[in-house]
Amino acid sequence: MNYEQPQLPYSRQALEPVISAETIDYHYGKHEKAYIDNLNRLIKDTEFEDMSLEEIIAHSKGALFNNASQAWNHIFYFFTFAPDGSREPQGDLRKAIDRDFGSFENFKKAFVDAGVGLFGSGWVWLSRDEEGKLFITQGQNADNPIVSGLTPLLTFDVWEHAYYLDYQNRRADALTKLWDIVDWDIVESRY
Ligand code: MN
Repeated sequence: MNYEQPQLPYSRQALEPVISAETIDYHYGKHEKAYIDNLNRLIKDTEFEDMSLEEIIAHSKGALFNNASQAWNHIFYFFTFAPDGSREPQGDLRKAIDRDFGSFENFKKAFVDAGVGLFGSGWVWLSRDEEGKLFITQGQNADNPIVSGLTPLLTFDVWEHAYYLDYQNRRADALTKLWDIVDWDIVESRY
């Protein structure tokens, strides 16, 4: 099977000024595309060729894991945003956030702090376990909570390539601005 990079459900300028069209061109157009191209090259004529992306992530190591997980993570990341999305969680997810973090404001601060505190490249995640309890975790490089048995709900990319064109070294500003484009209806659909 050949994985195809999904088309974004918004235009390249749609997330400005939070994420510029130029960052979309590089981050989605070059970085994400390269992970998917590498994934296709690495699985060709191997036992992994007919596995789902999640199965490849669970059963691979090294370069294949890195490219498969980065492909999954970037698709998940870019499909979290919407220019006119719902800006606050509702329903059961909101109740779980209030229960496990005290408030939505506390959650947002803890999430950004975890992203800022991650040394080097990686991802900050909101995930749930089988009982619905929520966790914020840091993942180095291509890490993904699926490997730990958690269900990912939201991620922010903290690799410098995600924000350097727009924010240079200001990772905290870059992450905080992302709250203006997260579509909580999408996050809730994953809960
Ligand atoms: Mn990235």
